[in-house]
Amino acid sequence: MFYEDLSEYDYQVNDSFTDEESGVLALRYRPVYTRLNVGWLEAGRTYSTGPVPTHFVEKLKAVQGVQWMNVCLGLHDCGLCPEEVAPEGNGEVRIPGEPGIAYAAPFLITHYITVHGYRPPQVFIDAVLAVDLDTRAAARWPDVPFPWVPDEVERLLE
Ligand SMILES: [Zn+2]
Repeated sequence: MFYEDLSEYDYQVNDSFTDEESGVLALRYRPVYTRLNVGWLEAGRTYSTGPVPTHFVEKLKAVQGVQWMNVCLGLHDCGLCPEEVAPEGNGEVRIPGEPGIAYAAPFLITHYITVHGYRPPQVFIDAVLAVDLDTRAAARWPDVPFPWVPDEVERLLE
C-alpha cells in the first residue's frame, strides 16, 4: 500500500482500538477528525529521506508501545526489505495533530525510519514529540491511549 504523505487517509472507514491486555476489540467508531497518511511506503515509490532526532524515534516507539489500533485487519510486509528478512507489521498508529487532524501511520513506520532512512513530514515529527505520553501510557481500559475517541462511542466490555 502506498499513500502520499499528508494525503487524506481512507484505508479503513473506522478507527478501532484494541484492549492490549485482553486482546479483544475495545471500541470502533467513525472518526470525526480528518486522518492524514504518513509513512505508507512501498518499493518503487520515492519517499523523503533524511536524519530524524533520536528522541523522536524513541517517543514514537513509546507511543506504539501503549497504543494498539486497527490491528487484525491484515499484516503489512515491509516492501523495501528483501522478502526473507522483511518484517511484518500489524496495525497502525494515530497521532493527534492540530485540532481536527490525526496522523495515520502504519505500524512499520519506525522500521521505515530506522532501517530505510525515511523522514516523515516535520508536522508529524512535531506532533509525536507533543504527545503527552505520561497521560497516554496511564490510560487504562475503558480509556484508550488516544485523546479524540468520541464520548458517545460504544465501549465493548468483552
Ligand atoms: Zn524494511
